[in-house]
Amino acid sequence: VRVAPADIGGETLGGRVFLLTYRDISQTRRIDRMRSDFVANASHELRTPLASLRGFIETLAGPARNDLKAQEKFFGIMHEQVTRMSRLVDDLLSLSRLELKSHIAPEDAVDLVPLLGHVRDSLQPLASDLDVTISLEVPEEPVFVQGDRDELIEVFENLIENACKYGQEGKKVDVRLTGSGGQAEVTVTDHGPGIPAEHVPRITERFYRVNVEASRSKKGTGLGLAIVKHILTRHRARLLIHSEVGKGTVFTVRF
Ligand code: ADP
Repeated sequence: VRVAPADIGGETLGGRVFLLTYRDISQTRRIDRMRSDFVANASHELRTPLASLRGFIETLAGPARNDLKAQEKFFGIMHEQVTRMSRLVDDLLSLSRLELKSHIAPEDAVDLVPLLGHVRDSLQPLASDLDVTISLEVPEEPVFVQGDRDELIEVFENLIENACKYGQEGKKVDVRLTGSGGQAEVTVTDHGPGIPAEHVPRITERFYRVNVEASRSKKGTGLGLAIVKHILTRHRARLLIHSEVGKGTVFTVRF
C-alpha cells in the first residue's frame, strides 16, 4: 500500500511508507471448523427423528392403514419424536440468542433465595418420577447477584435436572446456596455414577455426551450444559465441575 507519509506520520524509506499487516488465521479457521461441526451435529440430530417419522408415516399410509392398534402405538412414538425435535430447536434458538448478546452483561438485581426455591418446585414432578429428593439449603437473608432472572432459572434448572436424571435413583440431590454482598456460590451435588475425568473438560461443549444413548433416553439434547456455560459467561460467573467415578458429581456456580 502506498500512502503519503504525512497521512500517517510514519517512518519513510526513500519517500515511501510501507505498511505490513499480519493476521493469524488459525483462530478464524478454528471458529469456522467449530461452526461447520455444529451445523453437521445439529443436522444429524434432526435427521434421526425425521427419518423415523417418515418411516411411520409410510407405514401408517400403507401396511397399517386399517390396523387401529398399530396406529395408536405409532402415533405415540411420533408424538415423542416431534417433542424431541421441538426441544432441540428450542435449545438451538436459546444458544443463538445468547450468542447475539454475549457481550452485554445483564444488570437486574436477582435474589437467588426465592429463585432456587422456584426451580426446586418446578422440578419436583420430575424428581418424584425418578424417585429423587431435592434438598435445598439457603441462607435466611437474601443473596443478590447481578443478572437476568430467566437465564439464571435456565442455568439451575439444567444443573438440577441433570443431577436428578444422571444421579442415582432413590438418592438425594443437594442444592446449597452461600454468599452475601454480591458474592454467591451455588453447589448442586448428586450421588450418581460420576463423570470419568477425561470427559469432564468437554461436557460443556455442544452435543458432547458421555453416553449418547443414555442422554437420548433421558430426553437430553446435548445442549444443556453449553447453554449453561454461555449464560454464566455473560454473567461473569464460573462453572466448576468436580466428579468422582462411583461417588457423584458437584457442579459449582461461582458469582
Ligand atoms: P444432555 O441433554 O445430554 O443432558 P447436557 O449438555 O446437559 O446434555 O450434558 C452433557 C452430558 O454430560 C450428558 O449427556 C451426560 O453424559 C453428562 N452429565 C451432565 N450432568 C451429569 C451429572 N450430574 N452426572 C453425570 N453425567 C452428567
